[in-house]
Amino acid sequence: MAFEKELEVALAAVKKAASLCKSVQHNLIDEDTVTKKDRSPVTIADLGTQAVVILDLLNAFPDDAIVGEEDSNELRENDALREKVLGLVNEQNSEASADQMLDAIEYGNMDTDFTKRYWTLDPIDGTKGFLRGDQYAIALGLVEDGEVVMGVLGCPNYPFEDGNGGLFFAVKGEGAFVQRLDSGERTQLGTDGVGEGANAKFCESVEAAHAAHDVHQQISDELGITQPPYRIDSQCKYAAVARGDASIYFRLPRTAEYREKIWDHAAGVIVVQEAGGRVSDFSGNDLNFSLGRKLKDNVGILATNGKMHEAALAAIAKTVQLESA
Ligand code: AMP
Ligand code: MG
Repeated sequence: MAFEKELEVALAAVKKAASLCKSVQHNLIDEDTVTKKDRSPVTIADLGTQAVVILDLLNAFPDDAIVGEEDSNELRENDALREKVLGLVNEQNSEASADQMLDAIEYGNMDTDFTKRYWTLDPIDGTKGFLRGDQYAIALGLVEDGEVVMGVLGCPNYPFEDGNGGLFFAVKGEGAFVQRLDSGERTQLGTDGVGEGANAKFCESVEAAHAAHDVHQQISDELGITQPPYRIDSQCKYAAVARGDASIYFRLPRTAEYREKIWDHAAGVIVVQEAGGRVSDFSGNDLNFSLGRKLKDNVGILATNGKMHEAALAAIAKTVQLESA
């Protein structure tokens, strides 16, 4: 199997991160939240997760490039926060010193050649959901030549019929799977077979600031979708499409200038594609992961079960006036 070692290491790292995040989410207290420039909340779990995952990746692949969402500045200045995060990291990677932890977090900010092989990590995607005690994801993708070739999405609270939490993962050409966090049981993922709006369901962000809910509703009306939107935080939306819990994921930014971050999509894209779905921007173009930390050339994200992709693109073309990327 391709990327066998990469997958094994990524699954183990994201599993540790999920366990760190779960324990922090259970004990959330206000002082664990600091404010980022963009005012989205960052938690000790965010920084701890970036450290845990990068320490594991570098241990196995010391020469690989890694692009993570977070940096170490806050932790270098705040002794109490650093001690707290180190405590959590040591529960997962027992050997790490404070300096090793800080360097691992900072490794995610190095200059990267995005046209070559690199990993990209969102340590906690959906921080707003995390702080609400709701859905979030630990998202780790591997990119080669601008295309995602492997991804692991840790979704500790994802709702299954018989409990919560799974690691969704996929390798290019090998299918997509979910491994349950509690039992370890593995199941192959497949999108729903829905081909018409009347039976389809779409998902979108919970946060109205992150996506144009009103426009999504217009597109959904155009498609003849009658079910209400399934609102769920983070890349759990990709998991929902991959698992057939939703037929479509719409994400149109509220402002024309906003460009999506690579780590908000890499892992989700490959999981949906390998489950039989399709992912493109709102114009039908593939997402280009070779251009830097943002998907500069893509506006609007459309992930579908595959069957409804063309119809969704046609509904978008009728509904949305896209500014050129
Ligand atoms: P979600 O949980 O799907 O709403 O997405 C969470 C992600 O939204 C975060 O990881 C942010 O990177 C991203 N985000 C933050 N601000 C915006 C924005 N104004 N438009 C779109 N996405 C955003
Ligand atoms: Mg994110």
